[in-house]
Amino acid sequence: MQKEIAEAKRQHKVKSLKLRMIQKTSREKTKELLLMSRKQIKVIVGLLTGHCALKGHLHRIGLYNGDLKCRLCNRETETAQHVLCYCETLDRKRQDIWTTQT
Ligand SMILES: [Zn+2]
Repeated sequence: MQKEIAEAKRQHKVKSLKLRMIQKTSREKTKELLLMSRKQIKVIVGLLTGHCALKGHLHRIGLYNGDLKCRLCNRETETAQHVLCYCETLDRKRQDIWTTQT
């Protein structure tokens, strides 16, 4: 039961982060996005939707059968959710992004 509650909290946090990223639009951000390459936009959309070249997704679609642990921290399954919200290796970077974006 605690596992389900923890997962629900994680899902809520991811949804909040996605909404925060999407709802906080501005002319500056629009210009930034329009200047990005197709490849950069593909990465962003992939991370937001979970359909990206991370081990968890590649395993889910049958393209990867190796170790699913995050290549950065080697602690949890490498998913977009993990990379965006929980990877300890990216804590500092995530903090820098969120404090300059708000
Ligand atoms: Zn990690």
